[in-house]
Amino acid sequence: MTPPTTLNFIGNEYLAGGSDRWFDNRSPVDGSLVSRVAEAGPAEVDAAVRAARAALGGPWGRMPLAQRAQLLHAVADEIERRFDDFLQAEVADTGKPHSLARRLDIPRGAANFKVFADVVKNVPGEFFEMATPDGKGALNYALRVPKGVIAVIAPWNLPLLLMTWKVAPALACGNTVVVKPSEETPSTAALLGEVMKTVGVPPGVYNVVHGFGPGSAGELLTRHADIDAVTFTGETGTGAAIMRSVADRVRPVSFELGGKNAGIVFADADFDAAVEGIAKAAFENTGQVCLGTERVYVERPIFERFVQALKDKVEGWQIGRPDDAATVLGPLISRQHREKVLGYYRLAREGGATVVTGGGVPDVGSDLQDGAWVQPTIWTGLPEDHPVVREEIFGPCCHVRPFDTEEEAVRLANDTDYGLACTVWTTQLQRAHRVASQIQVGICWVNAWFLRDLRTPFGGSKLSGIGREGGVHSLEFYTELRNVCVKL
Ligand code: NDP
Repeated sequence: MTPPTTLNFIGNEYLAGGSDRWFDNRSPVDGSLVSRVAEAGPAEVDAAVRAARAALGGPWGRMPLAQRAQLLHAVADEIERRFDDFLQAEVADTGKPHSLARRLDIPRGAANFKVFADVVKNVPGEFFEMATPDGKGALNYALRVPKGVIAVIAPWNLPLLLMTWKVAPALACGNTVVVKPSEETPSTAALLGEVMKTVGVPPGVYNVVHGFGPGSAGELLTRHADIDAVTFTGETGTGAAIMRSVADRVRPVSFELGGKNAGIVFADADFDAAVEGIAKAAFENTGQVCLGTERVYVERPIFERFVQALKDKVEGWQIGRPDDAATVLGPLISRQHREKVLGYYRLAREGGATVVTGGGVPDVGSDLQDGAWVQPTIWTGLPEDHPVVREEIFGPCCHVRPFDTEEEAVRLANDTDYGLACTVWTTQLQRAHRVASQIQVGICWVNAWFLRDLRTPFGGSKLSGIGREGGVHSLEFYTELRNVCVKL
């Protein structure tokens, strides 16, 4: 049987491209072939950027804001109508449990379009009245104009959600986009093309090119002379490479990068809620969440009890097939990523860590043995300068360490090159505000994790990113202000 194909989407058409370069998209559940993906070469990337440029000068560029917003609502409605298609596509690529994708990836992917369509409709403009020597004065007002053609480079951990988190505000602001999804997860980005076409988004507004990073579609896109900005989510090292590739043409970038996020649990916390919250933060999506917690600091009086409870909790989570309703943990994204994660598991053992649970590969049976399965893992006893405590692993694992004072907890949490997120668990109101204000991150949760109001600023400090997106903050990146000065 001929395997299904995943094609580039350019000017509202699916194209294999002139190149005969194809790569396999394999399921991380069992290694089976999901589809053959058409890799975009220079000609396809150029065609996508041209289509995007042409659309800016076409009906999209002339479309009134209200109509554009209406179309984006229609995109969200159509994703919801085709919910099961998106669910199947996302799960086929990532192996994540249906229960998770059903609750998180697909609904949030759709919601992004509605939220940003509404945000842009409600942003006030800026206006200044000015005195002039002739006494007649002048008026200044600022117009927000689209930035142009936006290159969107997306990762594999929450493919539809993180891609639409950028595509939706870009389109809402009147830009056009060329998306390069991760080569591990091309399917939902491709499927979104069908949605765009069905609801009447004009050709060239939304384009998708498939391929890899360096020397492939990713680099070809970010180096293309006719893109106006790059918005990227992924590893910090990749962000640095993209920055270099846009440097010659001084294109603006918005980066959501890696993290090594801390969780702080005070002895006064609601114990069960804290265990539940940290378990989710460390292990959900098999630990492949940029906002996940890989360093946990627990106040000494409850340390032993907390570690035991966290172990009991995660050992109760079923690892298995995505369509099994009891499954909580799926595989990692790929065997290659598993090698990286298992490398850290080895380093932890060699460093003298106490392995509280996990540390290897689970027995998932012979039919899943070619998948990328890994055990959720908890360690204690490593020094703070160990690579396992300092570097982003992006797997289902965390190191737990006791602390004695609030100052120590804050110091430990901040002792990292990253600055993406933190989760703090306490029932003392004053402490909650005091600690949250001192953690050097883009988002600090108190008694919660992954709770996101899409109107709020999102991004990272230090090595975790450049800029903020979310709500009106997305407009700072996806539009340019043009001041009009009118002499009266
Ligand atoms: P990568 O940085 O490896 O890849 C992200 C995307 O960039 C992929 O589409 C990739 O293509 C592409 N890419 C790689 N090299 C280049 C290049 N030189 N030029 C242009 N594009 C390139 O990240 P992952 O996909 O591994 O995602 C995991 C990372 O993402 C983690 O570090 C995580 O912390 C971070 N992340 C950050 C978030 C945040 O909000 N701060 C949210 C989610 C994830 P290809 O797949 O082919 O390599």
